[in-house]
Amino acid sequence: MGIFGIARRVATAWAAPEKKATRRLVSVVAAVVLTGASALAGVVGRAPEPAEASGAARALTVAVEETGSVSGTAAAKGDREGARPSAASRGVDPGAPVPARPVIVIDPGHGGVDAGTVSPATGTPEKTVVLEMAQTLIRVLRESGRYDVRTTRDEDVFVGLGRRVTIAREAKADLLLSIHADAEYDHSVRGATIYTVSEKPSDAQAAALAAKENAADAVAGHVVTDAEDVVEDILAELTLRETRRFSLLAARDILEEYRRHGRLVKGAAHRQAGLKVLRAHDVPSVLVEIGFLSNKEDEALMTSPQWRETTSRSLLSAIDRFFAGRGVPGAARAAERTR
Ligand SMILES: [Zn+2]
Repeated sequence: MGIFGIARRVATAWAAPEKKATRRLVSVVAAVVLTGASALAGVVGRAPEPAEASGAARALTVAVEETGSVSGTAAAKGDREGARPSAASRGVDPGAPVPARPVIVIDPGHGGVDAGTVSPATGTPEKTVVLEMAQTLIRVLRESGRYDVRTTRDEDVFVGLGRRVTIAREAKADLLLSIHADAEYDHSVRGATIYTVSEKPSDAQAAALAAKENAADAVAGHVVTDAEDVVEDILAELTLRETRRFSLLAARDILEEYRRHGRLVKGAAHRQAGLKVLRAHDVPSVLVEIGFLSNKEDEALMTSPQWRETTSRSLLSAIDRFFAGRGVPGAARAAERTR
């Protein structure tokens, strides 16, 4: 029985709710699995995990990534992260290879036949506003030199929701940031809203927003076959749990930045819903509704190059803080400077 077999047995035992003693034993076995997996893989080089992660889940996730038994992407991700020096070796070996930069996929919503929402006052479509915002953000992120930045579209073309998820997964992205703009019947509503994925919507507005954004494929007459990132394996389930946790951390950093330097919508500025574009089980994903096209002030801001520049710099600070928390050296220094 290989590492994968052991990990599967451990996971099965761990999932059995009845026996405390079994869990204690499972913890020990999980630690053995972790040690074995690390030994097999050599220096693992993963960024330090936040303390609240359960030891067993961490062990199993490492086992998954080292054996690559969940999917090609998980295995490839392990390879790439393995190329980064471990925390212990950082700054010690001057001959060490330059660490890989985190991959960020910027996803401007809609495009082509799918205009998204439109400004009731001017007819400006969401697809144009979010593409311009994304292009500024991509430039600012690239100019920092700290990130490998990709995009799901850089022109006015239709890209299905499933395709966007696939692009992020194939890029082995460390973060997917989807950019959208909203509209409301109440034209006084303005400010940004930050979304993360959840099976259960946080409120009725979040559910309505997800329904609207998820309709993008239908607008284009696109047959949805690949939007769901199906998770059947318990090990993939553990990766999913870790991914959701990182998505929440990224959302928290973006919210914090907006509280200090931006404008959030009144009420619940962080909402959760079943947004298809955020469903990759192995890519932390956040969707930002940058403002309301139904609000005149917001529309004026969103169509202003100066505002896009300022907002992009804020998002860069938030992204730096997120990656600093994951132990990425350049991001840590940058986040330190913006504190
Ligand atoms: Zn949208």
